[in-house]
Amino acid sequence: MPTFRFASPLVSIFLLLAPLAAEAAWPPSRCDHVRVLGSGDADEIIEYDGAVLQDADPRQLDALGNALQLMPEVLCQAVRRVAFLERPPEDEGGTVVDAWTNRNENQDLVYLNTWSYLPWNATVVNQSREQRARSIQRFIHEATHAAVRLLQSQQKAEPYRSRQERADPALWPAEVQQLADDVIARNRLDTGVIREWQRIHEAFVAAGMAKPYLDDDWASNDGANSAYLAGAGWMSAYGGEQAIEDIAEMTSWAIIRDATGSADDHACRVMNGRSGPSIGSADAAVFTKLGFLWTLGFLDESHYRDCVGPLAIEAPGDGFHSFVGGEASRSYSSNPRAGVGRGDGEDEQWLIANITADGTASTSAGAFPATIQLILNVTPLVDAMTERGARSDRLAIPVQDASFPRGVYPLGFRNDPINRLQIANRDDGKLIMDVGQGIALIGLASTDGIVGSIAVQRIFNFSGGLLSSIAGDEPVAEPTRITFRYDPQ
Ligand SMILES: [Zn+2]
Repeated sequence: MPTFRFASPLVSIFLLLAPLAAEAAWPPSRCDHVRVLGSGDADEIIEYDGAVLQDADPRQLDALGNALQLMPEVLCQAVRRVAFLERPPEDEGGTVVDAWTNRNENQDLVYLNTWSYLPWNATVVNQSREQRARSIQRFIHEATHAAVRLLQSQQKAEPYRSRQERADPALWPAEVQQLADDVIARNRLDTGVIREWQRIHEAFVAAGMAKPYLDDDWASNDGANSAYLAGAGWMSAYGGEQAIEDIAEMTSWAIIRDATGSADDHACRVMNGRSGPSIGSADAAVFTKLGFLWTLGFLDESHYRDCVGPLAIEAPGDGFHSFVGGEASRSYSSNPRAGVGRGDGEDEQWLIANITADGTASTSAGAFPATIQLILNVTPLVDAMTERGARSDRLAIPVQDASFPRGVYPLGFRNDPINRLQIANRDDGKLIMDVGQGIALIGLASTDGIVGSIAVQRIFNFSGGLLSSIAGDEPVAEPTRITFRYDPQ
């Protein structure tokens, strides 16, 4: 009788799946604070019709440990509890939710649905490398919701909070509250992370560089190609639903993108396909949002760099750097400074950020000391999430509640008279140049620094001569692009 003594080891070799991280196992070597609820913990969860709390299977724990090890600190600290719950569709043929968090209570708890073919079903979770990545992405998506609510629980500016944004800070231990408090302070987000994300997105929509959120119509994105989704400002089709889903999709796919060939990391793919650092209008929204997620600590620097690919703002040092075409022409790099304050005179209702540096300007009249200043309106949109629509509502905002400038700002008289870029003669204070039309893009902004780029479309030149540079006796054309960097350290 033939024997098959090799059969068993052969089968197990073929079933071995390469883990996404080296030490996938339970408990994970980091973020081991996460408590997996068991069937006896029903009193800790919210009851859903027909749902049954389950003890976790080792295959589920292995994938969960893997997910936690891929996640930056803020994301994994936001999750304190995980419940594996079998929750069938409410009626035959009805939709099922494969993972969720609750908006109104227990915001530290991620629910994973183990029903049938869903990603966190014990037999599905390890079916293939792609499936495992998809399961982990679902978890990181929910962990991102938990992290947003952790941050919202720490914001200090109470008037801007809406019911949906509230979470009880006591859900998280003191050191995790401190971690979130530091993130809020580093990003000046006392008016709320969802509100700021929404403001960023709406500014890109207004500039024609993104599409409005689709709410319940998001499924109309299904089948849309990567270029369309990224150009709309989203990572994935579902990211087009609303701000909180956009944040969760952008974060989770940027983290998991290298793990599978079938991911929905559309924006990362589009940016990785670019040939150089230049950030076009189709990439500016997703580039900015990924930078924001990095300064929030939702992405590690490696996640950010892997996703944006070759794209970068070329600002070689502190101050302003002008370019003519692709060529660097002049830098204003002395005494860089930045601040936020209230506007003067009839601009008093606005909160204004300014970034300033000194240098030397050259015109046909010769070289002289000059100061360059970028002025941006950073008045928060207090009405973005409320019924109060009037613009005059902005009058009441205290300076300390203003965030950093982030994202896109149309410049100049033809666009927004508040936002401008000017060069003045430092000896007599006279204006020598004003960008009459342009677009400023702030790609990164936190207490660690600010980096941006201005596409110059039209310059008002008050000097009677050319400004950007004089090479020998030959005047060089005016700048087409001006980048800047300010690092407070
Ligand atoms: Zn979600």
